[in-house]
Amino acid sequence: PLEARHMRTFAKSSKLDNVLYDVRGPVVDEANRMEDAGTQVLKLNIGNPATFGFRTPDEVIYDMRRQLTDCEGYSASRGLFSARKAIMQYSQIKGLPNVTMDDIYTGNGVSELINICMSALLDSGDEILIPSPDYPLWTACATLAGGTPVHYICDEQAEWYPDMDDIRSKITSRTKAIVIINPNNPTGALYPREVLQEIVDIAREHQLIIFSDEIYDRLVMDGEEHVSIASMAPDLFCVTFSGLSKSHMIAGFRIGWMVLSGNKRIARDYILGLNMLSNMRLCSNVPAQSIVQTALWGHQSVQDYIVPGGRIYEQREFVYNALKDIPGISVVKPKAAFYIFPKIDTARFNITDDVQFALDLLREKRILVVQGTGFNWSHPDHFRVVYLPRVEVLGTAMEQLADFLMYYRQ
Ligand code: PLP
Repeated sequence: PLEARHMRTFAKSSKLDNVLYDVRGPVVDEANRMEDAGTQVLKLNIGNPATFGFRTPDEVIYDMRRQLTDCEGYSASRGLFSARKAIMQYSQIKGLPNVTMDDIYTGNGVSELINICMSALLDSGDEILIPSPDYPLWTACATLAGGTPVHYICDEQAEWYPDMDDIRSKITSRTKAIVIINPNNPTGALYPREVLQEIVDIAREHQLIIFSDEIYDRLVMDGEEHVSIASMAPDLFCVTFSGLSKSHMIAGFRIGWMVLSGNKRIARDYILGLNMLSNMRLCSNVPAQSIVQTALWGHQSVQDYIVPGGRIYEQREFVYNALKDIPGISVVKPKAAFYIFPKIDTARFNITDDVQFALDLLREKRILVVQGTGFNWSHPDHFRVVYLPRVEVLGTAMEQLADFLMYYRQ
């Protein structure tokens, strides 16, 4: 055997040096260690409905079973005709302009398509505007692709809407695109038409591509309407993302899609790049594609959850009211999705590091949340709670959190 000093070791690629994806990071590692040691941890960290007793609509499972033997081979790279036709009809209803069947791509979740879109677009030095806080995959993929993510602030004082002045101040000659996440993870914000119009105006003025992540578009509460920004920008090139992970409680099946719309002429070469990367991954999970039509156009069970009396609605009411009554916490009420992003009074608790805060909460109360900096939020003063567990469980968690804060560093 070689002596230790001669042993070759392997480091990760430097491409990963600045990539951050902490939703499954060090705090989660600690939670896993605790679980391995026999401690029960209440996980309020991952937006995975199936693990909290939300079931896939029966007809989706039934139809997938029936089609399984027809789905043994690869599909066309963009996806099955039936899936893309269903997405096409959905796009028409959402008013996406100038969409053909070739503009629709299925993916192994929206995640894969975000990665493809960033890889195909960004050269070293190219900038892309991404919200802060964000769903951190956007920043991670832009960085991995060699681009420079530039974060614009979403304003907690204004319902967490994007701060237009901040967006404007961050545009340079290298800015290629702007990402919006609407409805938003982690804030639960839903952008009204006026806000979207301002973003369209900026994108038009500076000739930016708009990427709109709308995976929560069917999880909107309070009778509010979700507007696809692409429907307001027929003259711009837009890419709109959605999928079934959240609305149909099938995050494990891995099915999402993206739709190119508007002015595709200006993006002809970029689209060739998208096609190349789409071809290179052959196709997305075919059994999951086979139920897109059933899922999108069958009974929408998610609808029962997001109205008064429904689980997601009632859990939101509960968690919002509980959080706002905890001394040292303030919070904006979310309108969509199933996340809430409370603010901690850092001066009161002398908090300078929110990873430490999340670790302390985990070790002391066995509650797992994600620290705000994990969403590219630059201050250590927020954390995200997934309010998918039942009210009884959330009740215990909120009591424990209040108890924890009562004695934390005071
Ligand atoms: N986009 C947002 C805003 C998300 O919150 C998530 C998952 O949490 C995704 C994309 C990824 O979803 P998928 O399961 O389709 O890959």
